[in-house]
Amino acid sequence: MKSQKIVILTGAGVSAESGIDTFRAAGGLWENHRVEDVATPEGFAKDPELVHRFYNLRRAALKTVKPNPAHYALAKLEAGLMEQGGQLTLVTQNVDDLHERGGAKEVIHMHGILTSMLCGTCEHRWEHLEDASPNLSCRKCYVTGTSRPDIVWFGEMPYAMHVIEERLAACDLFVSIGTSGAVYPAAGFVQLARSMGKATLELNLERSQGSNFFDETRLGPAGTLVPQWVDEVLS
Ligand code: NAD
Repeated sequence: MKSQKIVILTGAGVSAESGIDTFRAAGGLWENHRVEDVATPEGFAKDPELVHRFYNLRRAALKTVKPNPAHYALAKLEAGLMEQGGQLTLVTQNVDDLHERGGAKEVIHMHGILTSMLCGTCEHRWEHLEDASPNLSCRKCYVTGTSRPDIVWFGEMPYAMHVIEERLAACDLFVSIGTSGAVYPAAGFVQLARSMGKATLELNLERSQGSNFFDETRLGPAGTLVPQWVDEVLS
């Protein structure tokens, strides 16, 4: 399958071999916390201290993990396609920064990223690598108490949806890697791509919920499958 313009969606499975638990592996809980408590605006309003502590731990844990061969291969694909006059749009649901650390230049973090904070007052975003607390002030409007992790919580609109839809409309191939196909709207990208006549490929450890919508599914660990597939595309 040779294509010039490729849109890739990655999920927690692409970072699993780096040692970050997928949502599923953790039994649908995040480190024993209910999603409602740590990944909703209501949870943050109720207990900002707890939510900051939770994301502080996730942010600190990033320092203990490294990109795996799948992250490096996708960076190689981005550079290779660009050299050939094509384009890779790399969209991730992951809130880790392993694609960037693997060398990817442009990554759309549709669910936000742990290394950034968001001001709930003026919506300014800034890189923040240290622990955060409810006492943190916004770097732009200086309001204290409304700064939150720059994570798209349940019930909130994912980032850059219009860009993603434009790239899907213009692509030749849509590829989904390491995602269970359970979280919308990302889970619907394959149907959208298919409705526009695009080729679709899934690379996953096991069949995802939307597996039947893909033209082709390859099963196995991302650290093995992704480098093999990238070599095929670039050869
Ligand atoms: P998910 O946990 O629902 O599904 C992970 C998928 O990856 C499963 O289908 C599983 O079979 C597959 N998988 C597991 N190990 C794999 C491997 N080595 N190679 C290839 N595939 C593998 O994750 P999701 O679909 O991304 O959705 C869960 C939500 O949780 C997302 O919104 C995401 O933001 C969040 N989350 C993010 C991270 C992270 O940033 N690394 C980790 C956990 C959850």
